[in-house]
Amino acid sequence: MKASKYYHTIVIGTGCAGYNAADRLYGLGVRNIAIVTEGRLMGTSRNTGSDKQTYYKLSLCGADGDSVRELADTLYAGGGVMGEHALAEAAYSTRCFMRLVELGVPFPANEFGEYAGYKTDHDPRTRATSAGPLTSKYMTEALERSVRDKGIPVLDGLLAIKILTGADGVNGLSCVDVHTGEPAVFACRNVILCTGGPAGIYKNTVYPESQHGSTGLAVDAGAALSNMEEWQYGIASTAFRWNLSGTYQQVLPRYISVDPKGREREFLYEALGPKAPDMVFLKGYQWPFDTRKAEGSSQVDLLVAFEIKRGNRVYLDFTANPQGLDDRFGALGSEAYDYLKRSGALFGTPIERLQKMNSGAIELYAAHGIDLWREPLEIAVCAQHCNGGVCVDADWQTSVRGLFAAGEAAGTFGVYRPGGSALNSTQVGSLRAAERIAREAQLSCEEQNEPKEMPEYCLPDIRYGKPNAAELLDNLRADMSKHADFDRDTAGMKALFERVDGLCRDFAKTVSVRGPEDAAAYFRLYDAAITARATLSAMICSAETIGTHGSAFVDRRPGSGTGARTTRTLTVHDRGTVRSFISPVSAMPDPELWFETLLERSRKTAEARGKKPRPQQ
Ligand SMILES: Cc1cc2nc3c(=O)[nH]c(=O)nc-3n(C[C@H](O)[C@H](O)[C@H](O)COP(=O)(O)OP(=O)(O)OC[C@H]3O[C@@H](n4cnc5c(N)ncnc54)[C@H](O)[C@@H]3O)c2cc1C
Repeated sequence: MKASKYYHTIVIGTGCAGYNAADRLYGLGVRNIAIVTEGRLMGTSRNTGSDKQTYYKLSLCGADGDSVRELADTLYAGGGVMGEHALAEAAYSTRCFMRLVELGVPFPANEFGEYAGYKTDHDPRTRATSAGPLTSKYMTEALERSVRDKGIPVLDGLLAIKILTGADGVNGLSCVDVHTGEPAVFACRNVILCTGGPAGIYKNTVYPESQHGSTGLAVDAGAALSNMEEWQYGIASTAFRWNLSGTYQQVLPRYISVDPKGREREFLYEALGPKAPDMVFLKGYQWPFDTRKAEGSSQVDLLVAFEIKRGNRVYLDFTANPQGLDDRFGALGSEAYDYLKRSGALFGTPIERLQKMNSGAIELYAAHGIDLWREPLEIAVCAQHCNGGVCVDADWQTSVRGLFAAGEAAGTFGVYRPGGSALNSTQVGSLRAAERIAREAQLSCEEQNEPKEMPEYCLPDIRYGKPNAAELLDNLRADMSKHADFDRDTAGMKALFERVDGLCRDFAKTVSVRGPEDAAAYFRLYDAAITARATLSAMICSAETIGTHGSAFVDRRPGSGTGARTTRTLTVHDRGTVRSFISPVSAMPDPELWFETLLERSRKTAEARGKKPRPQQ
């Protein structure tokens, strides 16, 4: 099938990153563009949130100092981070944040315009802010309004299945209609992949159900991946997917395990004794599992997962006090005691304390049909964010020319990241990609010109018959959660790698769906399989060279325990085989900062373009 239409640049995805990429391209003068999305209302940004969903930015208030370089150092200190990403994400922080403010995202400020901050995890300052529990939704909606006002086409209901490449890099994109399986092929010179995190590879996940991820698109096009072993996992409810951080833990609910015969136990107290309530309290602001806290609050994650792995179901019960508390608040450590005292919540049951401290947290569950006053809440330790992703350069271009990745699809983080920095990254990466594309479009004057030859694509033969794609996907996800989540076992991962590799190789022979209307399910399984294979490869490589993630963590770095990780794990594909290896990260750049030199440089660039510098819209 020959491409029917040419766009200079196609953005895939309608989350914070995708909308911003399109909006910025337009503002920079690149107008022959379109957004392709499998579902305008799908994805993480629009459908997720948390107790206080955080946006991380440069400090913009008060008397405490902060600087671009200090913020860059914080991001770099997460370990496994490239210097150019840390610096760009810091340097663009204010510009991106203020643009969201201008677009109407309700970040709170005082009467003089200071955006007060609070401290988040891995944050040495108070750089975090929030527009409430649904910050990313407000961001998406504000950016969508801006895109709609500009008349940028959004091609809704199309699943991108293949990035087409020629000798010069990207030359097209192939899609299928998610309802009919009807193919559509477009010619383009650039694709910005804003497909979000690879949520579809885990069973235990707190990503919204509408988020699948499409990292496999980049793998298939030949792009390298970075740090695919680095994820964030934490305790979340499963019937309605929501992170149980903040007050959900600080009110000290009971953790109960129920075996297949219906017998109930308070397993945290059994394992941790009287310090159990204090560990639960700490989970409030130490939400993600952290190997370094495996002897501290992360014991809670390990114990929850252990119960589930032995076949029990685990719940949070807010209706009664946990063992070890039994109304004796004096048995609490000073941190938990003082917090509850200052909050006026040294009384009653967990649900009564939650009502006092954060009644919205109860209403949220009620809105999803769960009554925390009466029923226990089923939980698991769930994947929440992939710190790794598609490997990109300083302009967020992948190793394939014309293919860019931004937002969670891009791999710009490493081992740790400050809470909220993912949302900053959705804005910075998409802007950097748009700027690079706009620069090249201006130099080549090719934006409106169709390529001489339109690319062609032929859909692979899909087997129709007794469907097995859904079952294969369920099995893959369950296996990934069993062997390759926050508590990993290397032998299990190696065996799973062989099985997933087999599925990838024999995909066409193994997988069948009912008919063309299930083509989207077929391609989503393919994407999940090649993404899981790459993830396992990175995890095995990292386990064997750096240390196994989880309770059995053994740090094998030379001089281990002394500072941030200075390497990252790269994963490459070559003729059907996948290989991961450890590579040093780049140092923090030391670029020109002399004003007169930068002014001269800016004049020369404008002259070369034959124009005066154009103000940003
Ligand atoms: C519970 C939870 C809480 C979080 N809290 C925070 C927080 O407090 N602070 C923070 O910084 N981050 C947080 N995050 C992470 C953050 O929300 C995400 O990293 C971010 O929203 C991702 O935005 P994105 O634009 O990259 O992708 P998404 O918003 O996921 O958008 C991806 C888009 O791509 C589309 N798409 C995917 N594949 C295809 C395809 N093949 N064809 C067509 N369309 C496709 C999807 O439908 C969707 O529209 C949280 C995440 C979760 C799950």
